[in-house]
Amino acid sequence: MSESHGDTLARTVGGAVLTPDNAGYDEARALWNARFDRRPDLIVRCTNPDDVRAAVNFARDNGLRLSVKGGGHAFAANTVADGGLLIDLSPMQGIEVDPERKTARIEAGAKWGQVDSRVQAHGLASPGGTVSTVGVAGYTLGGGAGYLARMYGMAIDNLLSVDVVTADGELRHVSEEQHPDLFWALRGGGGNFGVATRFEFRLHEVGPQVLAGQVFHRFVDAPEVLRFYREFMSEAPEEVQCYPFFLRVPPLDLFPQEYHGQLVLDLVLFHARTGADAEATLRPLVEAGDPFLAFVGPQPYVDVLKTFDAGVPSGQRYESRSHDLPSISDDVIATLMEHLPDMTGEFTSAYLGGLGGAIARVDPAATAFPHRAAAFSFHIMAGWTEPEMDEQVTGWTRRLHDALTPHATGGVYVNVLGHGEASRVRAAYGDNWARLVELKRIWDPDNLFRTNHNIPPAG
Ligand SMILES: Cc1cc2nc3c(=O)[nH]c(=O)nc-3n(C[C@H](O)[C@H](O)[C@H](O)COP(=O)(O)OP(=O)(O)OC[C@H]3O[C@@H](n4cnc5c(N)ncnc54)[C@H](O)[C@@H]3O)c2cc1C
Repeated sequence: MSESHGDTLARTVGGAVLTPDNAGYDEARALWNARFDRRPDLIVRCTNPDDVRAAVNFARDNGLRLSVKGGGHAFAANTVADGGLLIDLSPMQGIEVDPERKTARIEAGAKWGQVDSRVQAHGLASPGGTVSTVGVAGYTLGGGAGYLARMYGMAIDNLLSVDVVTADGELRHVSEEQHPDLFWALRGGGGNFGVATRFEFRLHEVGPQVLAGQVFHRFVDAPEVLRFYREFMSEAPEEVQCYPFFLRVPPLDLFPQEYHGQLVLDLVLFHARTGADAEATLRPLVEAGDPFLAFVGPQPYVDVLKTFDAGVPSGQRYESRSHDLPSISDDVIATLMEHLPDMTGEFTSAYLGGLGGAIARVDPAATAFPHRAAAFSFHIMAGWTEPEMDEQVTGWTRRLHDALTPHATGGVYVNVLGHGEASRVRAAYGDNWARLVELKRIWDPDNLFRTNHNIPPAG
């Protein structure tokens, strides 16, 4: 890379162009998962779609490896490549809310926490996820499912349009009416089809208070609680979400000291409304089994969306493995009980989540995201600080994941693929794979957008 490359580009873009010697370089390439340290030759801190166009054209014309960073929260940490040019979208964080139409237009560098507080000011909710520091862009392009997904669908089901710079350097406004094939691919196909610069979403009336909380059980009681949970979720109204989390209790005053460091089951409960009906709906789940600690009640929705932020700090080492499950069978429960006691890593948890509802009402072929029929998801989110622990934590993660494979659907959500799972990208797209590789051939025949969970162009 000659120095003049950066100088040439700097003349054509409004945002900063950084090389490894510049202040801000390390911050601009940093990812939530700090396990891998990748150093681009150039970083373009894009401030508007024209900057993105210039960077895409420059990378393509000079044969540079291109990376694109939205919120930087990819589990696999494959967002940034070594060498080449990184498009950093973090300066693009504009959010426009239209309370009358109940829509929001959000630039691609925004994080869900910024969006949620803006839309909640109008009594509205976005289709964002369970952690407020996650980026809107990568989350949405992969599918996006949070507390409200069973009620109002995934992020892609609430997406009205996307502005995207395609491999030819053109900025396109894409929707059901304009370039519907590209719109189909962008709803689940990840970063494979271009650089999204702005998203337009449908919003819903939720909050300002919802009913939420956590109910903690001893690990030995987990089989009984999980059997209750699976029955409860099969009948649960769509306003309800519940994530059974396995984690080691942190040494906080909130928890009885005897449980500090113990492996427990934490039922994370959510109902999108408040009041007597909502309480009656959640009560069986709150009262099931013999919990040792419970706090459930009305809470501001914006606070609920930050519940887990502190437990998954940026800049640690992370690994991710996940399965879609057809059910929480007794075999699944037995496998969890066998492997979870070996759980290791300061920030590690493993959790289940209920799917169905509005997610399942969409035809699996209607968007690029195919796994509409799975009943539950299971996700190991392993987190630790010391490189010396890499093998211990990833080995445990792999063993539990492998042990569950016979009981899983074979499908997986692309946004939770972990490091070294390139071979599962095809499973992430199921029956939609053939259409995706064909659309990739049309929109990105040279695979310019390949620093991601890659869909190669047909042929
Ligand atoms: C702590 C945590 C909690 C999570 N919770 C949820 C959850 O509740 N629900 C859920 O569905 N998912 C969840 N996820 C998964 C999340 O959806 C993915 O990690 C997602 O990729 C993050 O998007 P990002 O923009 O922050 O990441 P990035 O690392 O910036 O991007 C991820 C991928 O998308 C590409 N990309 C990013 N921006 C663009 C763009 N503008 N145009 C084209 N390509 C782009 C990148 O190149 C990369 O390949 C969670 C992840 C974490 C780490």
